[in-house]
Amino acid sequence: MLRVAVIGSGPSGCYTAQSLVQQHPRVRVDVLDRLPCPYGLVRYGVAPDHEKIKSLQNNLRAVLEHERVRFLGGVAVGPGGVPVERLRELYHAVVYCVGAATDRRLGVPGEDLPGSWSATDFVSWYSAHPDAVQGAFLRGVRSAVVIGVGNVAVDVTRMLARGATELSATDMPHTALAALASSGVTLIHMVGRRGPSQARFTTKELRELGTLPDTGVAVDPAEAALDPAYPDPSALPAPQRRNVEVLRGWTGAPEPGARRLIRLRFFLRPVELVARGDRVGAVRFERTVPDGHGGVTGTGRFEEIEGQLVLRSVGYRGVPLEGLPFDPATGTVPHLAGRVLREGAVAPGEYVAGWIKRGPTGVIGTNRPCAKETVTSLLGDAALLTDRDPLGDPVAALRAGGVEPVEWTGWQAIERAEAELGASLGRNTVKLPDWESLMAAARAAGA
Ligand code: NAP
Repeated sequence: MLRVAVIGSGPSGCYTAQSLVQQHPRVRVDVLDRLPCPYGLVRYGVAPDHEKIKSLQNNLRAVLEHERVRFLGGVAVGPGGVPVERLRELYHAVVYCVGAATDRRLGVPGEDLPGSWSATDFVSWYSAHPDAVQGAFLRGVRSAVVIGVGNVAVDVTRMLARGATELSATDMPHTALAALASSGVTLIHMVGRRGPSQARFTTKELRELGTLPDTGVAVDPAEAALDPAYPDPSALPAPQRRNVEVLRGWTGAPEPGARRLIRLRFFLRPVELVARGDRVGAVRFERTVPDGHGGVTGTGRFEEIEGQLVLRSVGYRGVPLEGLPFDPATGTVPHLAGRVLREGAVAPGEYVAGWIKRGPTGVIGTNRPCAKETVTSLLGDAALLTDRDPLGDPVAALRAGGVEPVEWTGWQAIERAEAELGASLGRNTVKLPDWESLMAAARAAGA
């Protein structure tokens, strides 16, 4: 038997476990997660109104319910939890699928003013992440500025523009639902530092902005025309060409009488968040122009966009895990086809997959081939790895170390508690939003 620990139960962890049991008849996989709940960003990142993508949880569930896979939630790895070295004693191999746990910084003055948040703070709040900051994100907000033009920026823009009816059908926590449903936000600016043909969002997500009830979308034609590919996008690769075509459709007057307006802005780079009183009131941008090499240069002309809420949506970033090598330049663990490299040499028994391996890019499906590559490397090392026997039963060892894992029955109890909470509120499933209620529900399973 080959005993493997996968650290992280998001898409990359689940696809790694799946690939392992599919490719090797004698492997047993423990999928460890810091949280008592599985599925990583599918549960805590995919927007609540994206039910189709959320339903991917059913595929991931099938992996975690496989007879040779075991979910062990509530197990932190690293400082204060199980050290990396200890894991190496308990398993033949460890695959780190820990994602990119923090957000990139803008590095401009005013970034930390009250009212300025990372998009991940906002996403965690409406997704009921138990570590979310319970901020008054929307109090007194009439206009919002979203910095960045990736899919996360589109998600938070759309959530700001959604109405009460659409939101109440989701599993978002009641406090977030109440705040979003009664918000006074009527204007949302989503701002890119480069042009329409260089935006990172995908066309399907972009197009959805144009389908939101009671919401207009506007693109400034003169601004978009700064992009050399904008007048004739036919030479662009298909994804960028489609984005430009959708954006061109929004250069006319926005839908008259709509309650909310989304303004997509381009060629503006943030230089400062400006205070009004004791909180953010505007973002100061410098107008940019294309530099002819895919980048932009500043023009020395500036513009302020008013916003009482600023969401910085400029990408995620991996964080170092004590005991594992880390490349601060890329925010990833150095590796060779998924094998962790220590000082340039392969470290047998240690692997990575997902965002901590390749950086925070791609959609959920991108993790499948990524995980497969890592698993192929791992199984290629199997003879070497099984040379030594790991110490005893990992769960017993975790318990002896004071860690009581939440097993699958515990997670199922959380699911039941969320269904009951939803029913009591006259809604569908509603997520439990804090550690206490999650752990109480999980413990009820063992009682
Ligand atoms: P992203 O796709 O990397 O987009 C980041 C955006 O921030 C880009 O527009 C980037 O502009 C901009 N940016 C970076 N640094 C900046 C700065 N200093 N000032 C101004 N703008 C800056 O990141 P993301 O939106 O967080 O998404 C992460 C990944 O998750 C992506 O692969 C995304 O597709 C995926 N995702 C998918 C979905 C979905 O499929 N529905 C939903 C959410 C997320 P530049 O291009 O100029 O650097």
